[in-house]
Amino acid sequence: MVLDDLGSSLRGTLDDLRGKSRLSEEDIEDIVKEIQRSLLQADVDVGLVQDLSDSIETRALEEEPPAGTTPRDWVLRIVYEELVDLVGESTELPLEEQTIMLAGLYGSGKTTTAAKMAWWFSTKGLRPAIIQTDTDRPGAYDQSKEMAERAEVDFYGDPDEDDPVKIARDGLEATENADVRIVDTAGRDGLNEELIEQIERIEQEVQPDRDLLVLDAAMGQSAKSQAADFEAAIGIDGVVITKLDGTAKGGGALAAVNETDSTIAFLGSGETVKDIERFEPSGFISRLLG
Ligand code: GDP
Repeated sequence: MVLDDLGSSLRGTLDDLRGKSRLSEEDIEDIVKEIQRSLLQADVDVGLVQDLSDSIETRALEEEPPAGTTPRDWVLRIVYEELVDLVGESTELPLEEQTIMLAGLYGSGKTTTAAKMAWWFSTKGLRPAIIQTDTDRPGAYDQSKEMAERAEVDFYGDPDEDDPVKIARDGLEATENADVRIVDTAGRDGLNEELIEQIERIEQEVQPDRDLLVLDAAMGQSAKSQAADFEAAIGIDGVVITKLDGTAKGGGALAAVNETDSTIAFLGSGETVKDIERFEPSGFISRLLG
């Protein structure tokens, strides 16, 4: 990790250690405090921040730097390794035939993400299709169809059918020629019993290879309980964080990742189909600390 990736105040604190042959407990506390401040500001769960702080402190005080490594570089390496451990690696997404189901609350960005992911897979030489099963939100069908056209990918939906399970079934049949099928589902303002029951039924019909939870970057602390509910209902394999082009840094999503024992797959940062990137730990860490 290069120092430029760290926030400027943390970079300053680390730079103050230049030339020191030993780091005191106080030096390490200063660094940990800087990291804590940035992460809490970025909405990272307090418990996760505490665990990270403890790990950094313990390692920095107990482990000896390898020969030839300055204490400053050593603590920088520990900080980076522990941060990577916190944010996790990118969700594995083999470039092969698969079905992916998207879940999440109303407005989290599922429909937009479905089109973005389809576009992304198409850039990898695969043939994607979007299956739109959201029968609750007026406009979901038109929005999804229009975005599929913009992404130049196949689309299936049925505005006259009100059973999402039937749409899913018909959609799988209609998109047989596609390599990657992305199934969009309905959201609600909250995860109530009706939504849970519906999404379970769609999941049983679709038998997806992966279930991804779509979370708004501004989600904050409530991401955790939401993730737990989706995890219990369908099992979550990865998280997509949307709206990172706003002021929110998306740290709240880490609680969801932790809760579902999953990883982050994609980051969304805009309203067009191309505003998507694969999650990658160091870029996300810079964003959290920056
Ligand atoms: P859904 O209800 O979960 O399907 O959410 P939508 O995909 O309809 O997204 C809700 C709103 O958020 C729409 O106005 C989208 O254009 C917007 N949106 C989705 N993703 C992003 C993003 O990454 N950045 C920004 N700025 N807006 C987004």
